[in-house]
Amino acid sequence: MTVEQRLAEVQGRIKAAEKTGRRSAGAVQLVAVSKTFEVEDIRPVIAAGQRIFGENRVQESQAKWPILKQESPDVELHLIGPLQSNKAAEAVALFDVIETVDREKIAAALAQEMTRQDRKPRLYVQVNIGLESQKAGIAPKDTAAFLRYCCEDLSLDIEGLMCIPPADDHPGPYFALLRKLAQENGIAKLSMGMSGDFETAVQFGATSVRVGSAIFGSR
Ligand SMILES: *Cc1c(COP(=O)(O)O)cnc(C)c1O
Repeated sequence: MTVEQRLAEVQGRIKAAEKTGRRSAGAVQLVAVSKTFEVEDIRPVIAAGQRIFGENRVQESQAKWPILKQESPDVELHLIGPLQSNKAAEAVALFDVIETVDREKIAAALAQEMTRQDRKPRLYVQVNIGLESQKAGIAPKDTAAFLRYCCEDLSLDIEGLMCIPPADDHPGPYFALLRKLAQENGIAKLSMGMSGDFETAVQFGATSVRVGSAIFGSR
């Protein structure tokens, strides 16, 4: 299968999941995760009409995306990997959405840079939904207080919540918990679901799914 065919297949599966999940058509956005793939691998996916992409490393993105954004200015780039505060300036300059706000220090660094650069990427808070020690994110029980800190102390507008459930468990209950946290805190967007579980995420209310290998192939 070509990358165009794999993209079309993923789009079709999202559409079908919207239907079975009683979601409205087009309720779920596809973030095509292009990490580790080269500019030459990404171009055909943009040519096929995909406009939203996700990357997990700031430095790698800086090497790939300025040229691609110059060629296709309407592309929207999401940071979906961990952010160090010494990279906050670069992240604010390059990304349209930062999905991995996961601690006070990063939130404060982003707020400062957004003011300094007069640029406002949309922000998501990453929740460590399975409380795994190797994963980043705010603990579910601390999410409300962290959102209050972002909003009240930093005047940041948090658009969504993002999570990566434990790999070896059924993801449904984790997606349900993220949706509950969003509802309780008046957060509209949910970034959840990857190649292996995006249809389940759509059933549980994802507004965007982050799909890499099902489109680009294995890494
Ligand atoms: C790599 C990555 C994805 C995509 O994973 P696939 O299994 O290749 O679809 C999604 N979200 C995050 C945070 C990632 O790092």
